[in-house]
Amino acid sequence: MAKNRILWGILGFALVHGATAAPASLPPADYRYPADDLGAVYTPQATTLKVWAPTADTVAVELFSDPTNAAVATTPMTRDASGIWSLTLPGNQAGNYYLYQLALPQGPGGTPARVEVNDPYAHGTSANSGRTLIYDPALTNPTGWDQDQYVSLPHNVDAVLYEVHVRDFSINPNAGIRERGKYSGMVEAGTKTPQGEASGLDHLAELGITHVHLLPVNDYAGGDERQPAEAYTWYGWGYDPVLYASPEGSYASEADGSVRQREFKQLVQALHQRHIGVVLDVVFNHTAETGGGLFSIFDKVYPGYYYRTDAAGHPANATGCGNEFASERPMARKLVVDTIQYWLREYHVDGFRFDLMGILDRATMLEVYRAAKRINPNAILYGEGWDMEQVLPRQMMMTQANLRGTGVAAFNDGIRDNIKGDAGNGPARGFVQGGGAPYGGLARFWLNLKGQGTGRGDRNIPVASPNETINYDSVHDDLCLWDKLQVSAPDAPESTRIRMDKLAAGIVLTAQGVPFLQGGDEFLRSKQLVSNSYNNNDPRVNPFDWSLKAAHRDVFDYYRGLIALRKSHPAFRLTSRAAVDQAMVFATNAPEKVVAYVLRNHANGDSWRNILVIYNGSGAARNMAVSGEWQVVANGERAGVEELETAKDHLPVEPFSLIVAHTEGDGHF
Ligand code: CA
Repeated sequence: MAKNRILWGILGFALVHGATAAPASLPPADYRYPADDLGAVYTPQATTLKVWAPTADTVAVELFSDPTNAAVATTPMTRDASGIWSLTLPGNQAGNYYLYQLALPQGPGGTPARVEVNDPYAHGTSANSGRTLIYDPALTNPTGWDQDQYVSLPHNVDAVLYEVHVRDFSINPNAGIRERGKYSGMVEAGTKTPQGEASGLDHLAELGITHVHLLPVNDYAGGDERQPAEAYTWYGWGYDPVLYASPEGSYASEADGSVRQREFKQLVQALHQRHIGVVLDVVFNHTAETGGGLFSIFDKVYPGYYYRTDAAGHPANATGCGNEFASERPMARKLVVDTIQYWLREYHVDGFRFDLMGILDRATMLEVYRAAKRINPNAILYGEGWDMEQVLPRQMMMTQANLRGTGVAAFNDGIRDNIKGDAGNGPARGFVQGGGAPYGGLARFWLNLKGQGTGRGDRNIPVASPNETINYDSVHDDLCLWDKLQVSAPDAPESTRIRMDKLAAGIVLTAQGVPFLQGGDEFLRSKQLVSNSYNNNDPRVNPFDWSLKAAHRDVFDYYRGLIALRKSHPAFRLTSRAAVDQAMVFATNAPEKVVAYVLRNHANGDSWRNILVIYNGSGAARNMAVSGEWQVVANGERAGVEELETAKDHLPVEPFSLIVAHTEGDGHF
């Protein structure tokens, strides 16, 4: 961290002249700045800086020629009537850094203060969120960037999402990757595991997923970006955001300068060249710090404005992270919308996952949706719609209950819990471990499989279409799937737990809705039963162990086959509630702990006339009576689009397994 930041921090001393300065006239609470030029606007001829700080008595720009040395100039900015301070620095400023120096009659601690702070709209920074970088964005474009295209899938349900942390993916030496732990390592081509399996980028292409969903890659507070990646003394998921519009520096080969911008664009470009989209996990619900903290930004620019407080004036903390970003306030909302637009335009990302989206207000998310779709009509937007807010009225918030019909999707904890039991670390069992459908029973589970509802517990929360539900059995939070199966089915032999794993993936990838996989589950990744590994630097916990791919090649092939099946058969990707109701017919006479349904009559234009799906969530072999002759393409062992066997009049289903079969016949049970 920059030395002067520690010296300045928030000193909280009274300004010599502060007491006598005339109070600035504040804009109204609903003030909204209409232009899109906050932060630094660079040209080779001059750079203009603008920051909204309506309560400041004075704002000056400290200009630095590098990340560490003293300021080369400190220049006062000019305030307009609404509190926008601006300054034009003549000449080519690329490569220089700056901080704002504000004199506040009421600083973050409530007393007069002089603070030094990064630009809230910083597009770049020196290492460890030190100083805001001025740079020429065009010079960070890799060759061919102007030809780079979004991954455009018509509907959310066409996506197969794959969640991964940049460092986890490549830091293990057995990834066979040179640039370990880095943006560039994620997209090295031709890498292999010691057993000769494709790793890294080639692995993603082989698996067939459509989008990589990256845990936060915008600048975050934890760790020291200057350590060599293979010798980090720290680890972080990145849910401690500082500068929302700058890429994180620890995943770049150099933390200073504009290396991170270039290398992140190279990552997007390389994934796009393999037809894989990039979804960013964005954490607008809280920031790493508030008040006078080293990594506090907004409270030093306009103390109090950007954070919710309760009726008693205390910081709201429904996030559990110490603060709540007040997205409902116009200039906070603008920052969210501007940031989303910026990543879409500048970095060509394909979508966003909103952390604790239920803490954000609905109006902001609707504006985000409209803005994103104007830039990329196929942008995919989803988030955690948990109902957590304590201060604002819950009908204002972007929760599962309030996003119906918006086109924004929510993680579906209903299907998650019915598949595997709850998300806790205990022995609770769901469908795949023989526990039936513990939350609302099979009738509720059917609604999940139809892509018609989300929500935890017994209560189904309707969605407008399958495009609004993210179906998953595992995510970075809580135990990963393989670890969950170990604690919930401890007496089952490994071969049975593998069947349970495959069945869980099979449900996620055949159900109506948007399938989401936690990276590494496709080869039975384990985090050694650590359920919350957000800062765990044990090399056995978070990093991918690529040797698992050869060890569990059958599981990998199963996931890959299911993905191929889903992608080549639109019947699994119905886009409306009505289409699901018309196409999807459940067997009402299925044996206990068995769900069976047919997708009828070339559903969604499918080349197959009738598709039968059977999930056997019991430890007993079952035999389903069916009419006519069926071609089986998925069973307990293998999955794909090729015919594995033919069945007539009845279909044997092994314990803890699924069947997918199709027929040109009438398709009755
Ligand atoms: Ca950082």
